[in-house]
Amino acid sequence: MIAKVIVDVPSRGTDRPFDYEVPDKLAGWVEVGSRVGVPFGGRVVQGFVIGLAEFADVDRAKLKAISELLDHNPPLSPDLIELAQWISEKYCCTLTTALQAMIPAALKGKAETYVSLAEEEWSEAPSLLSEENEWVDYIRRSGGTVKLAALQERYPSEASAVKAAISDGRLLERVSIRDRLAVRKVLTVYPPSDPAAAHEALVLLPARAAKQREVLRFMLEQDEPLPLQRVVEEAGTTASTVRALADKGLITIREAEFNRDPYAGRSFQQTTAMSLTEEQTAVYDEISSAIDSGDSRVFLLHGVTGSGKTEVYLQSIQHCLQYGRQAIVLVPEIALTPQMVERFKGRFGDAVAVLHSRLSNGERYDEWRKIRERRAQVAVGARSAIFAPFERLGLIIIDEEHESSYKQEESPKYHARDVAVRRARQHGAVVVLGSATPSLESYAAAARSGVAVERLAQDAGSTSSDAASRTGANSPSGHPAASGKPPALLPMPNRVGGRPLPKVQLVDMRSELKNGNRSMFSRELHEALALRLERGQQSVLLLNRRGHSTFVMCRSCGYTALCPHCDISLTFHQKSRALRCHYCGYAELAPTQCPSCESEHIRFFGTGTQRVEEELSKLFPGIRVIRMDVDTTTEKGSHEKWLTMFGDRQGDVLLGTQMVAKGLDFPYVTLVGVIAADTSLHLPDFRAAEKTFQLLTQVAGRAGRHELAGEVIIQTYNPEHYAIAAAQQHDYASFVADELKHRQVMSYPPYCRLILITLSHEALPLLIATGEKLATLLREAVADMGLASAAGANGRFIDILGPVASPIPRMKDRYRFQCMLKYRGNIDATGILQDAIRMLSDRQGQPPVQISVDVDPQVIL
Ligand code: ADP
Ligand code: ZN
Ligand code: ZN
Repeated sequence: MIAKVIVDVPSRGTDRPFDYEVPDKLAGWVEVGSRVGVPFGGRVVQGFVIGLAEFADVDRAKLKAISELLDHNPPLSPDLIELAQWISEKYCCTLTTALQAMIPAALKGKAETYVSLAEEEWSEAPSLLSEENEWVDYIRRSGGTVKLAALQERYPSEASAVKAAISDGRLLERVSIRDRLAVRKVLTVYPPSDPAAAHEALVLLPARAAKQREVLRFMLEQDEPLPLQRVVEEAGTTASTVRALADKGLITIREAEFNRDPYAGRSFQQTTAMSLTEEQTAVYDEISSAIDSGDSRVFLLHGVTGSGKTEVYLQSIQHCLQYGRQAIVLVPEIALTPQMVERFKGRFGDAVAVLHSRLSNGERYDEWRKIRERRAQVAVGARSAIFAPFERLGLIIIDEEHESSYKQEESPKYHARDVAVRRARQHGAVVVLGSATPSLESYAAAARSGVAVERLAQDAGSTSSDAASRTGANSPSGHPAASGKPPALLPMPNRVGGRPLPKVQLVDMRSELKNGNRSMFSRELHEALALRLERGQQSVLLLNRRGHSTFVMCRSCGYTALCPHCDISLTFHQKSRALRCHYCGYAELAPTQCPSCESEHIRFFGTGTQRVEEELSKLFPGIRVIRMDVDTTTEKGSHEKWLTMFGDRQGDVLLGTQMVAKGLDFPYVTLVGVIAADTSLHLPDFRAAEKTFQLLTQVAGRAGRHELAGEVIIQTYNPEHYAIAAAQQHDYASFVADELKHRQVMSYPPYCRLILITLSHEALPLLIATGEKLATLLREAVADMGLASAAGANGRFIDILGPVASPIPRMKDRYRFQCMLKYRGNIDATGILQDAIRMLSDRQGQPPVQISVDVDPQVIL
C-alpha cells in the first residue's frame, strides 16, 4: 500500500503529498489522518497521511517506506484534512501549516501509547481468550501493560483486533507525552513543613519583622504551595520579605511546575432550562428546526446585551445533543472566564470539554482526547476549538462573532468564522453567529437574505433596494457565507424581563478642560464614583488602551491628524517625529500646534491603567481598586482570581482594559465609566469606528443587568462622532447606516476585500526590488485580465497598493515592506497572487525574500 504524506517542512516547494510505501507491519494501522515519521532529505520528519492508494505515481522501487507510526489513533479525520486543504487555498498557506494548526501542541512532541488489559473484561468473557489472542498472552506475560508500538511490531496482522479491543474498553490506552513546551517553572512558596515550629517562630520573630510575621501567618493558612508572585500579591508584601523567611528556614521557595487544572475540584451547580421568552422562543425554533433539517444554515443572532443569548445557545445545544450530534461553542479568549465556562458545565456537566490557551499543553491534550474518544459532546473554547475532532457536528455557535480575535494573526491566518461555515457545510450543521454588535461583514451578508434586507431597511430608515445596494448585494462581501446561502438575521432587540438598557451619558472632555479640569476624571464621573462608594455599590471603569500613545489629538478641540488620501488616522512615530499613513505611506512632520485651533494642547494619546489607579487612590483614599490588564493577568488563574474577588465584593472598582468589557455579569455593578472613548476611534484602521462602537456598547451592557438600575458615563473628546453618539443611544442600526456609507465612499470592506502581503528580508535594496517586482507582476496580471482599477460602482476590479514600508518597518533584523490587494467582485485574487508569487520565486536568488499573505486581514497596524 502507498501512503500520500504531507511532510512537516513548511516551505512552498515541498507543499505537496509525497508517496511512501506502507511497510507490512503497519498496514493495518496507517489510516488517512495518521501522523507518521518518514525519511525526507536525509532525516526523519513528521508528516500526515492524507490519502492511501494501491499504486504509486512514481517508480515503486524508488519509494522509501514510512519509518514509524506516531499515534495509533489518527489525530486527524478525513473531513479535517479536507478542511485543511480549503484553508491552505483560501489563506495562501502551506497544507502542513494548516494541518498542524488542527492538532494539540502536545502531539507535536513525542507521544508514546501504552495499553493494558482491563482484567475484569477479559475474565468475564473467557471465550475471547482463544489461541488467536496470542498478543493477549504477551501482554499478560509482560505484566499487564505494554507499549502499543511493541504490539504493532510483534503482531502486525492483529491491528484490527487490537483496535477493536481498545474501542470497546477491553484494552485501556494511556498516552504518555513529554510535554516539553508546557513545563513552565515558577518560583513557588511551600507552606511551613513543621507548622508547630512555625507557630513558635511567629511568636519569636522580632517586633520589627512585622511584615515577615504577616507572611508567615499567611503561609500557615495555606494548604498548598503558591507561586511566589501570588504570595506577594495576596499577602501584600515583597519578594524579599518572603525570601527572608525562607533564609530563616521557616518556609521553602523552589522552582516548581505549576500546572493546575483550573477547573479541577470545582463543582458546578447544575442548572436546568429556563422557560424561554417570546423572543427567545422564536429564535430557538428557527435554530432547532434548521438543526433537524440537516441543511447547513448560518444565522446571525443579533441580540442586545442581556437579551438572553446564552440561554438560547444552551437550549439549542441541548436540542442538538438529543439527536446524537455534537456542538462547538467559540468564545473570545478574553471572555472565556470561569463564569462563562460555568454556564455550560452547569448545564451539560462532564459532557463539556474546555479548550483555551491558558491550559498547559498536557491539559489541553486531555480535553482534546475527551472529544476524540467521544467522552465529550460539547467543546467550549477559543478560536482553535473550531477544529475540535467531533464526528457528527450539529451546531457551531460563535459568541461575540464580531471579535477580531477570531482571526489568527500567525500562519495559518484563518478566520474561525469562515472555517466554521465551511466545517458546518461538511457536516450539515447549523452555525449561529451571536452578537449585540455584529460585524459589518456579517450584517451586510445577512442583509442579502430577503428578511434581513427588509429589516436593515427599516433599521436604517430607507428603502430595501437602497439597503441591498448599500450592502453590496451583488458583490461578495468578504463574508464566508457569501458563497453559500446568506446568513439569516434573528433579532432579539429586548432585554430579558423587560429590563431597560442603561442610560448612557456622554461627557465632553473638551469643556472639562476649558473649565479648568485637567484630571482624567470629569466632574460627572467623579461624583458618580463617590455616590457608588457611599452606597456600597460597585463600578467598572474601562480604559480603552488600544492604540496606546500612537495617535495625535488636540485636547482643546478634539482634532486628530488624518491621511489626506486614506481618511484614516496617521500614526505617530517617536523616532522620526513623523506622522505616517500605514496604508499608502504618506508622511508628514508631527505638529507642535493644533492645525485646526492653534492650541498647544496637542498630544500623543494614551494613559496607562496604573496611572488611573494612582489617581483613583488620590481622589478616593481607601478605595479598593481591582486592576485587570495585561500586566496583572499573566499569571495563570489570575484572571479568575480578580473576577472572583470583584464578585465577592472585595473591590469597589474593577478597572481595566478591554478585558472588563466582555461577558461579565455582576449584580452590584451600577456604574460603568469609560475614561476616554476616543483612543480606539483614531486608530489607523478602517474598522476603528466599528471597534469603538462595539467596545462602548459592550461595556455599557455590563451595567444594570439585575435588579439595580445601571448608569453609564462615557468621557470623550468627540461626542458628536456617529460611533459615539450611536453607542449612547444603543442604536446599532443608525451606526451601521452611517458606517456603511463611509465604507462605500472609501471602498473598504464589506464593499471590497483586502489581502495584505508582507515581504521581509535582511537586505533593504533586494527587498524593495522584490516588492516592486511583485507589484509589477500583479499589475500586469490584473491588466491582462481587464481588472485594473475601478471600472465602475458595481464593477469587478483589483487595485494593487504599495509596496510601502510596513508599520513595523524592521523586525528581528529584517526589513519589512507590504502590498495591499483591494478587490471587488467574484475574482480569484488569491489565485492571481499565488501565481505571481510562484513566478517571483522562480526568478529569486538565495536566501529568498520571505513573503507572508494575510487574506481578509483584521489588523492592518
Ligand atoms: P446575553 O448573553 O444576551 O448578554 P444573557 O444570556 O447573559 O444575555 O442573559 C441575561 C440574563 O437574563 C441572565 O442573567 C440570564 O440568566 C437571564 N435570562 C436569560 N433567559 C432567561 C429567561 N428565559 N428567563 C429568565 N431569565 C433569563
Ligand atoms: Zn494614506
Ligand atoms: Zn485643536
